Amino acid sequence: MKNIKDYNLEELKEEFIKLSEKPYRAEQVFKWLYVDKVSSFDEMTNLSKELREKLKKEFKLNNFKILKKQESVDGTKKYLFDLLDGNAIETVLMEYHHGKSICVSTQVGCKMGCKFCASTGINFIRNLSSGEIIEQILAVEREENVTISNVVFMGIGEPLDNFDNVINAIHILNHPKGLKIGARHISISTSGIVPKIIELADMNLQCTLSISLHSTNDAKRSEMMPINKKYNIEELMKACKYYIEKTNKRISFEYALAKENNDNLEDAKELVKLLKNMLCHVNLIPINKIENGTYVKSTNENIIKFRDYLNSKGIVATIRRELGSDIDAACGQLRRKNL
Ligand code: SAH
Repeated sequence: MKNIKDYNLEELKEEFIKLSEKPYRAEQVFKWLYVDKVSSFDEMTNLSKELREKLKKEFKLNNFKILKKQESVDGTKKYLFDLLDGNAIETVLMEYHHGKSICVSTQVGCKMGCKFCASTGINFIRNLSSGEIIEQILAVEREENVTISNVVFMGIGEPLDNFDNVINAIHILNHPKGLKIGARHISISTSGIVPKIIELADMNLQCTLSISLHSTNDAKRSEMMPINKKYNIEELMKACKYYIEKTNKRISFEYALAKENNDNLEDAKELVKLLKNMLCHVNLIPINKIENGTYVKSTNENIIKFRDYLNSKGIVATIRRELGSDIDAACGQLRRKNL
């Protein structure tokens, strides 16, 4: 059965026309889903009973079930969602001073194979549909009775490897008659799929693009992130410059610091060279421990030195707070589960 949350408003109108229903009915349903945030067709009380029955036969609402919920000492919450097909994924809710942010997954598993990340390694199963991406937000809002203001595509999966569904989910998020989460409140993180970065630039969506860089050296980056063998640092930087040129948006480079791997002053110097004169920001992530991982977190002293060096050379660098690491909800710690 079709998942009604897979459709943006324009597509939903077309679906309604196919069902010989008026397009404004689709608008009403869209409002029930994303403004009133109901979880059943029966709550859509301005639709006739007949229409509700018709919709029930045609569409499912696909409300996720929470299989597990964990809360960190810092208030971060992690949910394990049942996708209703035998798979499960994780989503994280974080509290910032500017509001609530959600970190959504985009795939069941990941094909990228980054050595330091727990989301990969286990087999890739499938892409999430746009409705499944959106439902992570709705399910958390229902559970917590909150409104989410920021969405980061930084959970399990490579968002640009599920491009169409991610873009459609963003259209649903953005819509002024729906969730109304503006592009400026959305970040997409990628391991560096160059052609898709270019495609995204051409769309000029005004989302923040985060690039998982982690090293300035091709040999080292390829060792950490196999995708680098396909699109090396030079190609990646070219695509980033194109993104900045097209969108006028600052890029955020993510750099996870691993002890005696990429965290010494030489690395910082190389990073300055690479990013000189670019409209960008560096997000330093103390690398989080994962099961069987070979990388060890840098010392606090090194992390601060690294940041200060970048800042002294005019590159804005901040250290990402390690939210949720006690419940394995921090960067790189999410994983898909078999039921
Ligand atoms: N596939 C996308 C989306 C994942 S975002 C990407 O690679 O960007 C998750 C972020 O956490 C990425 O920047 C990723 O490189 C980083 N990350 C992965 N494992 C980590 C770890 N063990 N410690 C710190 N950061 C990690």
